[in-house]
Amino acid sequence: MRVTLDWLGVSTFRLTVGDLVVFLDAYLDRVPAAPPIGLTTADVTRADYVLVGHSHFDHLWGAERIAARTGATVIGSHETVRLLRDVDDVPERQLVAVAGGEPIELPGGIRVRVYPALHSCIWATMGAQPDEACLGDLGIAQHERAARVARGMEMLHNGALGDDVARHMAASDRHPRGEGGSFAYLIETPAGSIFWKDTSGHWSGILRDLRPDVALLAAVGRGNVDGEPVQGTLAEFVAAEVGLLRPREVILCHHDDWMPPLTRPTDVGPIRHELARRTPAAALIEMGYLEGRRMLE
Ligand SMILES: [Zn+2]
Repeated sequence: MRVTLDWLGVSTFRLTVGDLVVFLDAYLDRVPAAPPIGLTTADVTRADYVLVGHSHFDHLWGAERIAARTGATVIGSHETVRLLRDVDDVPERQLVAVAGGEPIELPGGIRVRVYPALHSCIWATMGAQPDEACLGDLGIAQHERAARVARGMEMLHNGALGDDVARHMAASDRHPRGEGGSFAYLIETPAGSIFWKDTSGHWSGILRDLRPDVALLAAVGRGNVDGEPVQGTLAEFVAAEVGLLRPREVILCHHDDWMPPLTRPTDVGPIRHELARRTPAAALIEMGYLEGRRMLE
């Protein structure tokens, strides 16, 4: 069975398993200053499913147009499904709401398992690069976390990062409640299994038993470990996730320069170094956009 993977920027991938086309997130249409992926939602002619990790614009936006263009079924949180139904008028028959714990059968002997995950701590101090250690921000109550996130979102919307970003936010942000809940997905195919998580956070007790063949992991911001910000570097956080999952191959995402001037290119070097030191059995694969990489061979 032929399995191919394209990275489409941020945490969005296109996974093709035999004849089945599955998008992981749907964020293809970015600000003009971001490096082009080579594909926009207007170019997407085939999709059977779209899995959505959480409801932030840089993951969800595009699912509504891919669903309209292709008839694809979208699987996401109850908040993701609410926004697609109520704001974007995606038909109910194309929506599957999940909360974590659901095994979903796809054609071709493929099974998708949904697991609860955690969003990265966007309310906490974060390093500019993966080897910059951050400490503290422990025990911050939810009302304070939410207030900090609201101030950050307001900055994106109000033009503080330029008119292009403000225009992009006006078009793309569906104003979810929080991030709508975050999920990890384990995609089991006859050729092997692929784990995908679109933000840097996890419940360690859940990751520990999954053992995928390949792990697609977000590498951005301040990692969230069991509900509190990681005490250390992003490189250490990613290595901890790989240590729990023990995949043969690791592919990073969300580390590209997806929304300048908010973002900048990430130096993968410290992550590569930390993985080589702590999890040498897992090979780190660095993907470019639209590579069409053969998987699980
Ligand atoms: Zn997010």
